[in-house]
Amino acid sequence: MKTPAGRECPHFYGDYFRGKNVEECRLLNLYGQAWTPDLCRTCPVPDIARANSCQHMKLKANVTRPLTALFQKRVQVSAFCEKSKRDVAEPQVGCGDCHALPFKFEVKE
Ligand code: SF4
Repeated sequence: MKTPAGRECPHFYGDYFRGKNVEECRLLNLYGQAWTPDLCRTCPVPDIARANSCQHMKLKANVTRPLTALFQKRVQVSAFCEKSKRDVAEPQVGCGDCHALPFKFEVKE
């Protein structure tokens, strides 16, 4: 479903049927974090979901305010692979267990 920022996100839920206007982030809900529509603008989850659809990777989201109170709140994401049982450093790429990363490239001259 498209977020208020206009990007597809598998965790966004909106119900506009018959005049309803219910919107929520089910990922932040899962971790008891308060969601506001402006968080979707800078959230990395839509890009992660587009780059990596591995069913074993689970995302954990936190709302943080970087460095000082002057900066706006952002969603910070960490990932864990339930198959390899380890943290995923780069969620866009994955842990490399199911989908091995490409070997080495050879350039012949
Ligand atoms: S905050 Fe992030 S995860 Fe939540 S609905 Fe918006 S884009 Fe999706």
